[in-house]
Amino acid sequence: MSEFDTLVQGTQATLQRVARDFTPAVFASSLAAEDMVLTDLIVRANLPIRIFTLETGRLHSETLAMVDRIKQTYDYDVALYKPDTAAVDAYVQQNGLNAFYDSVDMRKECCRIRKVEPLNRALAGNKAWITGQRRAQSTTRVALDIEERDDAHGMTKFNPLADWAEHDIWRYIRDNNVPYNVLHDKGYPSIGCEPCTRAIQPGEDVRAGRWWWENPESKECGLHVVDGKLVRIKATA
Ligand code: SF4
Repeated sequence: MSEFDTLVQGTQATLQRVARDFTPAVFASSLAAEDMVLTDLIVRANLPIRIFTLETGRLHSETLAMVDRIKQTYDYDVALYKPDTAAVDAYVQQNGLNAFYDSVDMRKECCRIRKVEPLNRALAGNKAWITGQRRAQSTTRVALDIEERDDAHGMTKFNPLADWAEHDIWRYIRDNNVPYNVLHDKGYPSIGCEPCTRAIQPGEDVRAGRWWWENPESKECGLHVVDGKLVRIKATA
């Protein structure tokens, strides 16, 4: 068996274990390439893991189009979690539509309203959640484990693709004819909200296009932060 086949089988085994031992469990998909690999593995195996995405109100149309493509390809309805309208209106009224460029605090508050609060709603009542994060994605993810305790949400968190390299993701997508966001073909290896994501140059860090005006160490949206600290920055031996 090839290394790649072993990688895929290990990921399938992780997902089956989540479905068997952690029901109810959910998968937080950002509709990016990694998330499409997991979507394909979950839906094809008919695993009882609910897939949802955070519809922040600021996504690219290309990203939103993935919801329809998943429906067409797999006949599967991704659940959409949207921010509280009153909270978004108050933020915009007080600070302006794009105040997240003004400071890290303003950016984190926008992420809190549009992502963190809806995520908390989506996770409530579950035993585990799954992400498409990979260790190689950025300096904030170097110590990522496949399984970890998420005390902030009171459940187990799985990152089944932690060991995957970028070329593994694209090999799986090609081999299995998995639909993917067309922005990946336009220089966007990592895709978030439209005003906070830009294309990168060859050789740049894959997360360099996310919140590019901030320091690399600040580049998490709060979804993987505990008590305001990036839990994934650990000393490497
Ligand atoms: S990524 Fe940007 S637009 Fe999206 S929630 Fe965070 S600050 Fe707001």
